[in-house]
Amino acid sequence: MTFDVVIIGAGIVGAACAYSLSQRGLSIAVVDKTLPSNGTSSHCEGNLLVSDKVAGPELDLALHSLAIWPELSKTLEEELGPSFPSLEFEPKGGIVVTTTEAGVQPLIKFAHQQRQAHVDAQVLSLDEALEREPWINPEITSAVYYPQDSQIQPTIATEALLAAARKRGAVTFNNTEVIGLTHADSGSITGIRTKNQTISTNSVVLAAGPWSGIVSERFGAAIPVKPRRGNVLVTSRMPHQVFHKVYDGDYFGATQSAEADLQTAAVVESSQAGTVLIGSSREQVGFTEHFHTHVYAEMARKALRVFPFLANASIMRTYGGFRPYMPDHLPLISDDPRIPGLYHASGHEGAGIGLSVATAEILAARILGTIATSPLGNIDSAPFDLRRPTLQTYLTEALA
Ligand SMILES: Cc1cc2nc3c(=O)[nH]c(=O)nc-3n(C[C@H](O)[C@H](O)[C@H](O)COP(=O)(O)OP(=O)(O)OC[C@H]3O[C@@H](n4cnc5c(N)ncnc54)[C@H](O)[C@@H]3O)c2cc1C
Repeated sequence: MTFDVVIIGAGIVGAACAYSLSQRGLSIAVVDKTLPSNGTSSHCEGNLLVSDKVAGPELDLALHSLAIWPELSKTLEEELGPSFPSLEFEPKGGIVVTTTEAGVQPLIKFAHQQRQAHVDAQVLSLDEALEREPWINPEITSAVYYPQDSQIQPTIATEALLAAARKRGAVTFNNTEVIGLTHADSGSITGIRTKNQTISTNSVVLAAGPWSGIVSERFGAAIPVKPRRGNVLVTSRMPHQVFHKVYDGDYFGATQSAEADLQTAAVVESSQAGTVLIGSSREQVGFTEHFHTHVYAEMARKALRVFPFLANASIMRTYGGFRPYMPDHLPLISDDPRIPGLYHASGHEGAGIGLSVATAEILAARILGTIATSPLGNIDSAPFDLRRPTLQTYLTEALA
């Protein structure tokens, strides 16, 4: 059998692409070297945020995604029925706080710039902040409320997108590592190679998350995606005392930073099950899974500045994952002029859960030669193209 499209990677990005493409009637294979949702999409948090994004293309993509998620999660739940676990979509809102005087003006200015980019960003008084989050440290110096920030259960969302794609005929190949492509004499793709078989197709989507850099090198068309490690602390279950996604303003600096060294910020939220998730860290240490207590200690210390009551919480477990980092901080959603038939959907760093669904719209439009849309209107895909100027110095051969 020849598939219309083979997608490499069954994380949330590959799953969203499988859903969008199968919905448009294409025959799809999704190939993963392990199991679906076994990579970063199950080692992360499920925030769908606008609050942490600078006005520009990534924020625009986040707004498009946020316009898609509510209806999509409802549709998936209806389609998959009550025996499928809930996607736990919750428009809970986010609150960004500062804990220093020096942090106040930058946060207020940032919120002002976001308002001009169609983000609802409301500066709160201390009383208003305490009304929304009664357990927050009353010594915070400023707070901004972002009602659009939402949350989803990322592993279940990935599984749901794949399950719905399967209902439309998509086939998943588990424990199947892609090691190369097969080509016609013209150079165009005729299939993918795994250790044991060849799967025929003329179109391949590389959606291998932080491993996309490695896989693209095997194809002879390297892209500069690297892993950026992140860790999360999980408390045992407790009565709900955190009602929004709450984080300190330091988080914003960490998301935009290119530094390889450890960076941490307090990012606190509760899950529907009653646990509290405390993030987050960022460091470029390759695919190392070593457990470093100083990383967790720093995250915990910063979280206590925002929510002192957490001093009494017990930590049930910790986990870590690898964000797919791009050097110019924008995802790559593009065809690849070096290999006709190759497409990329990678490099979403710390925002791939949120951005996956608008990414899939762009990707499907690229493959089908149509225009990507969301309920907000047309989605501009140019900033995510492989030929964009900010990426050229990171490619072995400039494409622009
Ligand atoms: C601690 C942490 C917190 C985060 N919090 C958030 C958040 O709150 N909100 C948000 O939006 N994002 C968050 N992120 C980022 C988000 O998790 C990622 O951007 C997203 O999961 C990337 O999805 P993906 O599908 O691209 O990659 P992955 O989920 O990693 O999927 C890639 C898949 O490719 C497969 N693969 C790799 N190589 C091959 C091969 N050769 N052949 C076949 N298959 C292969 C892997 O097995 C894997 O299943 C967080 C990340 C971390 C680490």
